Amino acid sequence: MPQIDVLIIGSGAAALSAAFFLPANIRVALVSKPRRLGCNTEFAQGGIACAIDENDIESHIADTLKAGAGRCDAEAAKILATKGFSLMKTLADMGAPLDRDENGAPLRAREAAHSKPRVLRAGGDQTGAIIGEFLLERVNHPICFGEIVDLLIDGGRCYGATIDEDGKRENIYAHNVVIASGGFGALYDVTTNPPAILGELQGIAALRGRKLSDMHFTQFHPTALDMDGAAQKPLLSEALRGEGAKIVDENNRRFLEDYGENELSPRDRLSRAIFAHIESSGRAYLDLSGFDSRYFAARFPVANRQLTLFGLKPPFRKAPIAPAFHYAMGGIAVDKNARVLGLRGLYAIGEAACTGAHGANRLASNSLLEALVFGKIAADTIANDPNANPAKTFGVLDEPRLGKDDDEVLSTIKKTLGRRAGVIRERASLKQAAAILDALTDREIGLLTRRSLRTAQAIVESAIEAEESVGAHYVKEESL
Ligand SMILES: Cc1cc2nc3c(=O)[nH]c(=O)nc-3n(C[C@H](O)[C@H](O)[C@H](O)COP(=O)(O)OP(=O)(O)OC[C@H]3O[C@@H](n4cnc5c(N)ncnc54)[C@H](O)[C@@H]3O)c2cc1C
Repeated sequence: MPQIDVLIIGSGAAALSAAFFLPANIRVALVSKPRRLGCNTEFAQGGIACAIDENDIESHIADTLKAGAGRCDAEAAKILATKGFSLMKTLADMGAPLDRDENGAPLRAREAAHSKPRVLRAGGDQTGAIIGEFLLERVNHPICFGEIVDLLIDGGRCYGATIDEDGKRENIYAHNVVIASGGFGALYDVTTNPPAILGELQGIAALRGRKLSDMHFTQFHPTALDMDGAAQKPLLSEALRGEGAKIVDENNRRFLEDYGENELSPRDRLSRAIFAHIESSGRAYLDLSGFDSRYFAARFPVANRQLTLFGLKPPFRKAPIAPAFHYAMGGIAVDKNARVLGLRGLYAIGEAACTGAHGANRLASNSLLEALVFGKIAADTIANDPNANPAKTFGVLDEPRLGKDDDEVLSTIKKTLGRRAGVIRERASLKQAAAILDALTDREIGLLTRRSLRTAQAIVESAIEAEESVGAHYVKEESL
């Protein structure tokens, strides 16, 4: 029975950071869904939040805690800002291609709820893709493509995972397994996330008795481009608003003032204001007319390309926007060393995990930082405390990968979460959502959809259990 030292599930920022920082003498393999299905990292535009200097670390922590609406784990937020500062310095010193000014100093953008401009970027608005490539080029471990459909857990230890590669299934045995499989945005009908992000590993963890935390804290991005029927919506990043783009209605009126907000309010409040405006009066737009079109194309190449694709070729005036599911603050509960609680040999990092650093609402551009920081923490923990599992084999799961009702069930999950566990929630509607999702468990569904369904149930259960509206979890008052 071949056994490796570390199996990493995923190939986004968190997975690549863990792989990059693991010592070369450790046998590591990465397993990820095929790259064509996408990962959130490659879409991350705005950048990576990072203290400007050591004196700014306290302020970065304070901004993180404030955005998190009193629900952050203060220690995790401190680790994020402190280790994030030194990690970004390490990456910059290694030649990470951050955008810089004419004197070589990294450029820093202002994003919502940051008290100062501290967001680093690469390639204008291609930060995730460029930093991902930078790490990928330096990772020497093999990556194979397939879907992880189960974890091999017994007696308080994780022994590996089961991979399904186009129906061919096998167990991979590893002394340590690192879950870096991202969030669950593709379980929503309107999202900025690509189709791979179906939250299966959160479902597997829950089905295997692991704790999921803060699942109801789901962040909606206020300014997704609202142009076509596809579930994945292009993002019009915060950095645009940081550089002066305005949110307006059909008559070019800045309606946010009616809601006591402005363009740089935290995402949860802004999403609610835009959602309420769209519900009551029609449409919302991002007014980009203040930009010079050549500057815009150079500074925001991704946004420029997307707007052009939708016929909003510069010089344009305004782009229709709507809130879309964006980021999961909740996930698999871990300790400060990225260990999954109560198990030996299992770690979770990045958007799949809940470190508590983001509390009820993630501060803009803190997630790439979290993925990189906790990827390194997992690598360091494994290097310093290598787990050695006793020899053990497991039968290979024979439940079918796909079921005849998969498409219909996934579509019901997406609509149910979108309508009932969205930007503004109601108690009765959440309870109906729970009943709808529970009824889906009897349908003929495959292994992967069953895992996603468990994750969807956990989101709704967590929202029902939550006693108050806080941060990104907002329940209409009359329904409380
Ligand atoms: C449009 C957009 C813009 C964003 N902009 C920013 C930004 O500017 N700054 C910022 O900090 N954050 C941003 N974010 C959030 C940030 O991109 C993510 O939180 C971060 O990239 C998550 O990294 P990750 O490695 O945890 O997961 P991901 O990058 O999502 O990677 C998950 C990986 O797991 C794999 N996977 C999933 N399920 C399975 C399975 N069952 N088996 C095998 N493999 C699996 C996927 O294929 C993928 O490779 C943005 C997100 C989006 C969608």
